[in-house]
Amino acid sequence: MKYLDEYRDARLVQSLAAQIARRVTRPWTLMEICGGQTHTIMRYGLDELLPPQIRLVHGPGCPVCVTPLEMVDKAIEIASRPGVTFVSYGDMLRVPGSRSDLFRVKAAGGDVRIVYSPMEAVKLARARRDRHVVFFAIGFETTAPANAMAVWQAHKEGLQNFSMLVSHVLVPPAIRLLLESPHNQVQGFIAPGHVCTVMGYRQYEALSREFRVPIVVGGFEPTDLLEAVYMLVSQLEEGRAEVENQYVRSVRYEGNQPAQRLMETVFEVCDRKWRGIGTIPQSGLRLRAEFGAYDAERVFGASGVAAEEPAECISAQVLQGLKKPTDCSAFAVRCTPENPLGAPMVSAEGACAAYYHYRRHSLPGEQSHGRAATPN
Ligand code: SF4
Repeated sequence: MKYLDEYRDARLVQSLAAQIARRVTRPWTLMEICGGQTHTIMRYGLDELLPPQIRLVHGPGCPVCVTPLEMVDKAIEIASRPGVTFVSYGDMLRVPGSRSDLFRVKAAGGDVRIVYSPMEAVKLARARRDRHVVFFAIGFETTAPANAMAVWQAHKEGLQNFSMLVSHVLVPPAIRLLLESPHNQVQGFIAPGHVCTVMGYRQYEALSREFRVPIVVGGFEPTDLLEAVYMLVSQLEEGRAEVENQYVRSVRYEGNQPAQRLMETVFEVCDRKWRGIGTIPQSGLRLRAEFGAYDAERVFGASGVAAEEPAECISAQVLQGLKKPTDCSAFAVRCTPENPLGAPMVSAEGACAAYYHYRRHSLPGEQSHGRAATPN
C-alpha cells in the first residue's frame, strides 16, 4: 500500500531487530504508551523479534479503556432519557458499565448513534431541533481539538440542543503516576506519536529530567516502533536520559499550536479519574465555565453511581504495565470481545483485545481457551 509498505518492509524490520540485538548488553523494560502501538506490536509479532533482554510492557494509552465506569454509567443514564439522541464513537457502545452498556440502551429503543467526528453531532443537532444531541467526548490530547471545535462551533451558532459528556485525559500526568509508583519497572517510554503531533514533546522533557528516564516519541508502524526501541536502548546503554523524536514525519517540537490554542479556549485542566487506576491530579480536561451550557453533566444533572469493576478483571494492573492480559484468569475464557468483562477487551486499542486477536492461539496452554472463545 502506498506510503505504508515502506514502514512494513520485512527486510528493514529484520535489520532493525538485528541492530537492537547488537546494541543491547543488559535487560531493559520498555513501555509503549499508546494502545495503537500495542496493537502493531502484537499484530506483527515485534516483541518476538526482539532479543530476550528487551521486555515490552503495555501502557494506559487506550482512551476507551481508561474512561471511568462512573462516566459510562452517566452516559447510559443520559442516553436512556426521552428526547435525547446520544452519539459516540463505535467502541464506546460495547464498553460495559456497572449494569448495562449503550448497545443495550439502543436495543431497548434509545436513540444511540455512532459517528466518526464530533462535527457530525453538531450537524445532527442543527437538523433535529426537536432532539437534544449529546456527544460522548472521550480520549487523549489527540481527539480534544476536534471536540473543542465542535463546542466552539455550537456556541458560535447559538445551538441550544447540543451538549458534550466530557471525559478527556492527558498523557504526561499518567506517565508521572507510573514513574512515582514504588512498583514501577519501566526504564524507557515510547511516547504516543498522535498525541505528540498535537501537543509536541516539550512536556516530556521535565519528566525525563526529573526521573532520569529516556522517552522517545514513536510512530505506529513496525519500523517506527523498532526504531524507537533502538533509540531507547541506545540511550539506556550509554547512560543517557533524553527526549528524542522518532516520528519526525508527523511530530514537531512545538506540536500543532492552533489546535492547542483551541483546546485552551474551550477546555481547562482538571483532576480526572482513570478507569481501574483512580484519580490522577491534573490529568483531565473539562469545559471552561463560559462553555458550561454545553456540559451534559450540568444540563442533565447526571449523578452517576459509585461503581465497581468486576473483581476478576485486572485491567488496572494491565493498564499500568504491571501484568499482561494473559495473566488474567478470565482472559479468553470468561472475557472475550463478544462478552467483555473489562474495557481493554472491547476497544480497538485495548491490550486484552490485542492479545486475544493476535496471540491467544500461540500461547502455551491457551489453545483450548481460543477454541472456547471462537464464536459459532
Ligand atoms: S482479560 Fe478481560 S477481565 Fe481480564 S483484565 Fe482484560 S478486560 Fe479485564
